[in-house]
Amino acid sequence: MNAPNLPLSGSCICGSVQVRVTAPPLLTLACHCRDCQKLCASAYSLTVMIPATGFSVSGELVMGGRKSEGRRHYFCPSCMGFVLSRIEGADTRVNLRASVLDDLTWFAPFVEMMTDERLPWARVPAVRSFTRFPKSVEEVEALMADYLER
Ligand SMILES: [Zn+2]
Ligand SMILES: [Zn+2]
Repeated sequence: MNAPNLPLSGSCICGSVQVRVTAPPLLTLACHCRDCQKLCASAYSLTVMIPATGFSVSGELVMGGRKSEGRRHYFCPSCMGFVLSRIEGADTRVNLRASVLDDLTWFAPFVEMMTDERLPWARVPAVRSFTRFPKSVEEVEALMADYLER
């Protein structure tokens, strides 16, 4: 896996929301679940998982998607672009949509998940593949350790 040149900057398509990443990503992933298909209007979502301490965002964000407390999905209220998600119980991490970043030359999904709901033709070059979501915090932490090694 390529390491990004920090800091990383990015924005939604209208520029109202600006993000800055100053810590190395913890994990990169593609999610094939039906929710991600609908949220991204695409075959799957692409995520860069970042430590919250190495992430800052300016501009207003509004919650969208299912608006559930467990998985909070945030969008730009002007262009409606999908910017990031925060997962309950994992508040030390931010799941940034990869598409927000200016530089994606380094990016490839290390993990893919929810392949049970994958569109039959949707292939990504992930190193690790899960038919569902990882079952536990320990499993996610093991993936992060694997990612860090590469
Ligand atoms: Zn998903
Ligand atoms: Zn915007």
